[in-house]
Amino acid sequence: MRSIAILGATGSVGASTLDLVRRNRDAWRVTVLTANESVEGLAALAREFAPDIAVVADEARLAELRAALAGSGIECAAGADALNEAAARGADLTVAAIVGCAGLAPVMAAIERGGTIALANKEALVSAGEVMTAAVARRGATLLPVDSEHNAIFQCLQGNRLSEVRSITLTASGGPFRDSSREEIEAATPAQAVAHPNWDMGAKISVDSATMMNKGLELIEAFHLFPVGLDKLRIIVHPQSVVHSMVEYRDGSTLAQLGPSDMRVPIASALAWPRRMDTPMGSLDLAAVGRLDFRAPDEDLFPATRLAREACAHGGAAPAILNAANEIAVAAFLSGQIGFTRIAAMVADMLNDGPMPTAPGTLDDVLAIDADARRRAGEMLQTV
Ligand code: NAD
Ligand code: MG
Repeated sequence: MRSIAILGATGSVGASTLDLVRRNRDAWRVTVLTANESVEGLAALAREFAPDIAVVADEARLAELRAALAGSGIECAAGADALNEAAARGADLTVAAIVGCAGLAPVMAAIERGGTIALANKEALVSAGEVMTAAVARRGATLLPVDSEHNAIFQCLQGNRLSEVRSITLTASGGPFRDSSREEIEAATPAQAVAHPNWDMGAKISVDSATMMNKGLELIEAFHLFPVGLDKLRIIVHPQSVVHSMVEYRDGSTLAQLGPSDMRVPIASALAWPRRMDTPMGSLDLAAVGRLDFRAPDEDLFPATRLAREACAHGGAAPAILNAANEIAVAAFLSGQIGFTRIAAMVADMLNDGPMPTAPGTLDDVLAIDADARRRAGEMLQTV
């Protein structure tokens, strides 16, 4: 039996992970479950999976959580420090499934324990970059990518050398607006943006998919996970989301990983690594899929991937600023405060707003850059 800590248990990735655990109760002992504010959802999961501790990030909800878990013997805690402490307890596998830079400190706490981390929380790696990869190396931790593209690349790299990679291509569904006109994109509503054609995901990543910032964040994520150099990383739009990414080698061979658009497949790959486990997914029926299409991304209509590539090339604080600006802009879009195309425009404005802070060397540096960028992005919102 292996122990598993799930940070962000009430979200989409959390639910997919727990679905796999539920089907393999003999293989896993759940030790930690966390949520942001959904006490009801967290308490239901805690009652089902009986972790040692349940943590709600919102401190005001502690009493509610205690009441919901009264008599269960499960420890209850609340607040950012409690979240970090729970992550630092260590487990055989920590699933990092919090959304946004809010998940960074808990992931770093888990890395400091030197364990294995199944990473879905791409914003944490984008913001911290070398600060995180250096901690992983220093502590002898293992990062297993859960993001479907990175999990695909990870699988395609097995048994090969990074030095023999000619290119890595991230596939992108193109999101709900991949076939829309500029006018339609400018008028896009939150409801349209979160209605992803292929994947069922949380609201923030769904908007990121619609702007293509998700692929931009994934480019930076790939840059850190697979150090082949930015010039070897490509993006291609593939509307069917069957090919999850590809690795091309120096001899002209390209390896791809294919599968259904269901996060339980890459999550299962991380849970069972280096072995395999059953999932409820049926076999891939390529005859039913019929065709696989590919096309170059349109960076005039969707500038986010270009902004991310520029931020990655700049390095230092730029990716953390890009991420923070995007988080604030997406929240503002979802609450109806700004229009859809303003999201990427705000990210561009933030990257060009004054001198770039010095490159972060520690977690605290990254958190300070993130906090300052959020404050400045918030001010920018007041002036639009
Ligand atoms: P979600 O919104 O469905 O769930 C997010 C989880 O994080 C919830 O448990 C929520 O309670 C918790 N959370 C949110 N804000 C928090 C905060 N401030 N402090 C502590 N906890 C907080 O998100 P999701 O779609 O499951 O995505 C999670 C992460 O995985 C994201 O980084 C996303 O980019 C990545 N990811 C998701 C998918 C997917 O299919 N959903 C695919 C690839 C990568
Ligand atoms: Mg992805």
